[in-house]
Amino acid sequence: MDDRLTSDRVATIAAATPFQLLYEFYRLSGYEQRRHEPGVLDFTFGDPHDPPSEAYVEILREALIPQHELWFAYNFGDAKAIEAATESLRRHIDLPFEPDDVHLTTGGFAAISIALKIVGDLGDEVVYSLPPWFLYEPLVLEAGLVPVKVSIDRQTLDLDLDAIAAAITPRTRIVIVNSPNNPTGRIYPPATLERLAKILDEASERNGRRIFLISDEPYNRIIFDDARFRSPLEFYPWSFLAYSYGKTLLSPGERLGYLAVSPTMPGREQFRDAIEAVQISGGWLFPNSSMQYGLPRLEQLAFDIELFQRKRDTMVAALREIGYTLSVPEGTFYLFPQSPLADDVAFTQALDREGVLVLPGRMFETPGFFRISLTATMETIEAGIPRFAAAFRAVAAAQPEAAKAAAAPTG
Ligand code: PMP
Repeated sequence: MDDRLTSDRVATIAAATPFQLLYEFYRLSGYEQRRHEPGVLDFTFGDPHDPPSEAYVEILREALIPQHELWFAYNFGDAKAIEAATESLRRHIDLPFEPDDVHLTTGGFAAISIALKIVGDLGDEVVYSLPPWFLYEPLVLEAGLVPVKVSIDRQTLDLDLDAIAAAITPRTRIVIVNSPNNPTGRIYPPATLERLAKILDEASERNGRRIFLISDEPYNRIIFDDARFRSPLEFYPWSFLAYSYGKTLLSPGERLGYLAVSPTMPGREQFRDAIEAVQISGGWLFPNSSMQYGLPRLEQLAFDIELFQRKRDTMVAALREIGYTLSVPEGTFYLFPQSPLADDVAFTQALDREGVLVLPGRMFETPGFFRISLTATMETIEAGIPRFAAAFRAVAAAQPEAAKAAAAPTG
């Protein structure tokens, strides 16, 4: 008798590298206990640290008051919510989105999962760049697809287009692009997206089968310095857009997002019923009806970009002054500095000894870096700076050459 209770399929998903790295992080760092200790400063995950805004709470409260007997009935997508999401999409991205192309989901997770399944056949390959958002791999495996990882250009933090082109095979069906990027904060420039579109077009021709692009853009409204975000959808018609309200509204536990099909995709009508079918068969991936009713007003809530820009500027300036090497993020709420030790896990342990928790680059399959989340409060950031300095000095004292080399500017 085989006494393993899980299916082979689930065993494969549970063994995915990012889950292993997350388990390892939780187990070895004692994170769960450590983050609640007094005086410990938590810069790890993008969870909110400030109390939710009154306006947000009020919108949810109102959305829970039934206005008719069907208020809490099965809800495939409230028409007013879809209209509001579509209008907002048109304002943010210069494309003529239509309500029929916008499908409300339980956040970005579900939007990505649906997009993977709607075009991916079992065994098809999905290309994405490291450092990734760590849950692409399990989502790809769960869809029965094969992850294919390439690295970004670690100097410019831009996509490495040659590496993407080289990773494409006759089984490639999907390329995932995440801009603004978690964890690097990079917004991929139009020239990169234009060249990527050309590569995907040519490879599709060669393969005799279309390669689709999933643009994972939950941070597309968290943009600094009045930079202009350009969506990959503007460059490549065979694209899906996955969006989550969890970032802009700093409320990832309240699930709300959408999957939008590019309005320039030829034949996109084929997806309309199919997406709904996958949402149902995938386990009812529609948001709760109350979140749908709240959406038009939630759309109007502004993200406090000035506050986050201040946090970014304070932290970047202080870290550079200390001697860290890091690029200035153009969007998102993350920093991705180089680790002053080649062993980023050892360096995050040095930070931990100062009472500062961050994620090692190893968690993003990109050793030699670490990630700081700026969802920490301004007070935490200010209290953290001397500790980042102390950890830097401690490793420099222990390993002067290694720290000096890592701190050398890379241009
Ligand atoms: N994509 C990226 C790049 C993310 O950082 C996240 C959340 N950390 C998601 C997708 C998923 O967002 P949500 O949990 O709001 O669905």
